[in-house]
Amino acid sequence: MGPLIAALAINNWDIAAAVLPSESEINEIENSVTGIFGGTPIENFTFSNQTYNSNTGSFSADVSFKSNINLSLTITDFSGYVTCAEHGIRLGSISMQEQSVVVPENGNASFTIVGTATHEGMQHIATSHAGSLPRIGLENANITIELYGVSLQIQISVA
Ligand SMILES: [Zn+2]
Repeated sequence: MGPLIAALAINNWDIAAAVLPSESEINEIENSVTGIFGGTPIENFTFSNQTYNSNTGSFSADVSFKSNINLSLTITDFSGYVTCAEHGIRLGSISMQEQSVVVPENGNASFTIVGTATHEGMQHIATSHAGSLPRIGLENANITIELYGVSLQIQISVA
């Protein structure tokens, strides 16, 4: 089976869809995604080691991702927007530095996100946060995972 993008709506998350497998396969994937994220997405992501260059607007952060499923999975893409978690202001877009990251069963994996703040994002950081990157959230972040040989794209917002 080739890569497949499933469209499912689980809890508050939208999973973008293209081709759908059979209903039993959808149920299996749905259960898996629910298992990966467990409670709410905010519990799955921890950001640390944030850097910010106030001249160029470039920033980075280490992301620790916690999986709650008894299967190894691979994260192949992580992109979207980061926000100031405190004020909900969009700061800029991000991408994952690594090509892919393997998350062991019930385990953690770390990867690095890099991005560049928009003009408005740079202004917000300068005026409201004294020039250092505030605690960040995710807005319509797309995380792509491979599981069962299937590629799933899941859209997540974390305030
Ligand atoms: Zn702010």
